[in-house]
Amino acid sequence: MSDCIFCNINQSRIVDSNEYFYVILDVYPVTELHTLIIPHRHISSYFELSEEEQSSLFLLLKKHKGKLQKIDSTITGFNMGINDGEDAGQTVFHCHVHLIPRRKGDVKNAKGGVRGVISSKQSY
Ligand code: AMP
Ligand code: ZN
Repeated sequence: MSDCIFCNINQSRIVDSNEYFYVILDVYPVTELHTLIIPHRHISSYFELSEEEQSSLFLLLKKHKGKLQKIDSTITGFNMGINDGEDAGQTVFHCHVHLIPRRKGDVKNAKGGVRGVISSKQSY
């Protein structure tokens, strides 16, 4: 799509790719080395991925989880996330998966992690 930022990403920003996906660093990282895994084809929702694409995505996620931990030994955990739909917070309507490295003590209380999408419900 001509007006989609992820269909028109500058090639120099791509750190890795496979048949179905490419990988970039997020320009507004939540934490250092916040990574995005993005399908080459323009679809807005994760749920439009085929099973073959999902398997390929999993392999890239695993690969980059390992790579990040190799280059930065302070990484002690990850949040993986997909904002699927505007009401879930999606702002770029070309499917992408967030791989967000976490480090011990990077927030005061990490408990609940992705539950924090509804901030009052993060803790339980
Ligand atoms: P979402 O809110 O899940 O749609 O996430 C969109 C993500 O894309 C945000 O984390 C942004 O920081 C990131 N982003 C926006 N524009 C760019 C860009 N040109 N290159 C890389 N990441 C971007
Ligand atoms: Zn696109």
